Amino acid sequence: MSVKRVLIVEDELAIREMMKFAFHKSEFNLQEAEDAEQAQVFIKDNRPDLILLDWMLPGMSGLELAKRLKTDPDSKDIPIIMLTARGDENDRIRGLDCGADDYVVKPFSPRELLARIKAVLRRVDPAMDDTIEVGGIKLDNSTHRVSIADKTLEFGPTEYKLLHFFMTHPERVYNRSQLLDRVWGGNVYIEERTVDVHIRRLRKVLAEHKAEHLIQTVRGAGYRFSTQP
Ligand code: CA
Repeated sequence: MSVKRVLIVEDELAIREMMKFAFHKSEFNLQEAEDAEQAQVFIKDNRPDLILLDWMLPGMSGLELAKRLKTDPDSKDIPIIMLTARGDENDRIRGLDCGADDYVVKPFSPRELLARIKAVLRRVDPAMDDTIEVGGIKLDNSTHRVSIADKTLEFGPTEYKLLHFFMTHPERVYNRSQLLDRVWGGNVYIEERTVDVHIRRLRKVLAEHKAEHLIQTVRGAGYRFSTQP
């Protein structure tokens, strides 16, 4: 699976440095922003998998940014962990009210924060689990093994990533540009018809196991992984 990208929005350099050090040996890739404005630009170009958001920022507050991100359809699914110096119950409620998924009170240990990140990611994204089974397909993310009725399917790396994405986001339609963004990652410039090429290859392998019906073309909209006809 691709490395999870975590964006930290924090004006205090010492905390960013501490996190950089802690993340260095973790399975996450850490990106940084110093304030809400920088964070907004960054998120548009480079969708993170999770945001660590400091409450007290110069300019727009972390709370305000969380509210905006959670009401924007493009970013509302990105989980947010608020970093706060306030332990006050009311503030805690306000933080979770604005849509944050969790919060951590400063000072925190990087180890504690990493554990909270994993817990939040696992909650919002079942893809963090090692094995997924949908529509008779079994996908083991630790070995990258895909099988149907105990028979192994052979895929190229892109088809694997595509299938993994579909299986963890079933019953929803994605257009080509969304698939490029979520499967290939932001900042890559690939023609949209590349998506069709890989969908075709994926279907071909699935067809050998009579499972091609799981990848559906939705006319004028895109593709959907569905166990329903
Ligand atoms: Ca701060």
